[in-house]
Amino acid sequence: MSGPATRRSVVLRRRPAGSPRPEDFDIREDAIPEPGPDEVVTRTIWLSIDPYMRGRVSDRKSYAPSVQIGEVMTGETVGEVVASAAHAFSPGDIVVGARGWQTHSVSPAARLTRIDRYGPPISAYLGVLGMPGTTAYSGMIDIGRPKKGETVVVSAASGAVGSVAGQLAKRAGARVVGIAGRPDKCLFVQDELGFDDCVDHRALDLKAELAAACPHGIDVYWENVGGRVQQAAFELLNPFARVVMCGMVSQYNDAEFPPGPNLGFVVGRRVLIQGMIVSDKPERFAEWRALAAPWVADGTLRYREDEIDGLENAPAALAGILGGRNFGKLLVRVGLDPV
Ligand code: NDP
Repeated sequence: MSGPATRRSVVLRRRPAGSPRPEDFDIREDAIPEPGPDEVVTRTIWLSIDPYMRGRVSDRKSYAPSVQIGEVMTGETVGEVVASAAHAFSPGDIVVGARGWQTHSVSPAARLTRIDRYGPPISAYLGVLGMPGTTAYSGMIDIGRPKKGETVVVSAASGAVGSVAGQLAKRAGARVVGIAGRPDKCLFVQDELGFDDCVDHRALDLKAELAAACPHGIDVYWENVGGRVQQAAFELLNPFARVVMCGMVSQYNDAEFPPGPNLGFVVGRRVLIQGMIVSDKPERFAEWRALAAPWVADGTLRYREDEIDGLENAPAALAGILGGRNFGKLLVRVGLDPV
């Protein structure tokens, strides 16, 4: 194995109170391990930063285990194989896997997926073709099921999940309205992603603005945010509407959850509200990659990436995504592209 002998990892120093801060993490340096039987050593090129990571640094009970104090932060990466003791991988292979916030990692071969280095940009496998894209695909086909002529509203519409969710609803023939947090994000949602309208959730009268953008009510609401955005959308739900409960990012930093909306309307309007976790159906990852890679290649599935340079900036990046400072799929560049 050529290259550096040591690696850097970001480990959790203490559980953040409120928004995560760089002081909640440590940078650890140690020797890059040799691969054991059927193991692979990779150098990280891209690290994905995702809102779910806020849950992992908390000790609140969740669908996935917390990162323990002193442990390396979890996260999906794209990397290059630099040493392999596994038949399935050779140095130079580009792989995607949940290998954590570190410059190099050792993984069982079974935890890695090889990707085509000559196909779509390799970073796309963390966003539009990766976990967030698969989330949008799964939630839309299982729960949202948009039909031609229906109105679909997507919150956090310029982000990794929302941008794909809305474009899938457009493909199904729906009228799609995005909700985003800045004028330039709303412009992108309409001009670049092709949504029919977009409302800035910082508007003083969000309810009125969303109602004006949805004159026939809402048939599918894609929930990424919660809070006042959810309240505005719920009021407009039509009979037999479907709500995809994907995330509630506005409350991830809160120690106490705010009181919820009154759900009495769900009965009379026969609304379906269903939660989802993308890993419930692991087969969807490959299915989505196969379906969407040609759309990325021919430019009919649009996406935007927001890059931050350097592993040491990953904690600040996590704080940023929870505060809406990202614009598109948030990625940390950890290493150089393959030659
Ligand atoms: P994004 O790229 O959309 O980034 C998060 C965005 O959330 C920010 O850019 C910001 O957009 C918005 N946001 C943050 N805080 C607030 C707030 N207080 N009020 C309103 N909007 C806010 O992230 P992802 O696409 O990766 O994730 C979107 C959602 O999907 C998250 O809730 C995430 O947890 C969830 N998710 C769920 C999965 C599942 O399996 N259920 C899998 C993957 C993601 P803006 O500036 O436009 O407000």
